[in-house]
Amino acid sequence: MADPAECTIKVMCRFRPLNGSEVMRGDKYIPKFQAEDNVIGKPYVFDRVFQSSTTQEQVYKACAQEIVKDVLGGYNGTIFAYGQTSSGKTHTMEGNLHDPDGMGIIPRIVQDIFNYIYSMDENLEFHIKTNLSVHEDKNRVPYVKGCTERFVCSPEEVMDTIDEGKSNRHVAVTNMNEHSSRSHSIFLINVKQENTQTEQKLSGKLYLVDLAGSEKVILISLACSSGDICFHSDLFSFTYVPYRDSKMTRILQDSLGGNCRTTIVICCSPSSFNEAETKSTLLFGQRAK
Ligand code: ADP
Ligand code: MG
Repeated sequence: MADPAECTIKVMCRFRPLNGSEVMRGDKYIPKFQAEDNVIGKPYVFDRVFQSSTTQEQVYKACAQEIVKDVLGGYNGTIFAYGQTSSGKTHTMEGNLHDPDGMGIIPRIVQDIFNYIYSMDENLEFHIKTNLSVHEDKNRVPYVKGCTERFVCSPEEVMDTIDEGKSNRHVAVTNMNEHSSRSHSIFLINVKQENTQTEQKLSGKLYLVDLAGSEKVILISLACSSGDICFHSDLFSFTYVPYRDSKMTRILQDSLGGNCRTTIVICCSPSSFNEAETKSTLLFGQRAK
């Protein structure tokens, strides 16, 4: 576990494979990976770089497993996926919720948390609360409204909550006559533990964020029943500074303000067709380091 007093930020980079239509179009596969597993091309270095063949399990282990341990130890954590539309953000965060190989980070986290709970002794009481924000857009400004909050007793119940949140989001998006590429999804898992004998308590929050396509991101303002957060395209000004100044914000405050572990997964298309956007995504990730 990292030093408790320290906030850690890790930036990972994942390339998806070329898809069928890109291959049909004759797009080139552009990334060049070096022998080290943290370097892409010449100028870009990340904590880890995942090539297109990397499995969902490998991504989970590198991006999330440690954060889950920390959250169960009473720390707060955040995992963001950032990248242009169709770069693999949702694949990385959610993947196929109901397939053991295809599952992304969120369902694996949920399973790990419940496995931990099931392995603990009887004197520990756990409260797992999940909170799913539904995005709506107003005057092209992304906006989150209408969080649903649930107490959950099993991994299956969490998956059901996610499925429900997706269909709500779909309704919201259809109503606003928009595309889902402009919506953000924030999934919050709140784990509270109490030892019923010693009355010792631990509480950790984990924010799992699937951001809108980065090509649409200039200013993202997320608002929730508990407050808002403003993000600017420059990550540092957006995560560490404005929330303090902003009278709006609370939602990510405790995960960003201290006692926190943050991982950003930069998602990229490998296609020559997306080269310019991929470069700007990589630069964004580099600035976050
Ligand atoms: P985004 O959420 O960034 O818009 P998606 O996660 O929906 O992008 O990915 C776009 C498409 O590419 C989806 O069909 C997804 O299943 C596929 N895809 C994304 N990443 C991978 C990957 N690493 N391996 C295989 N398919 C992927
Ligand atoms: Mg998506």
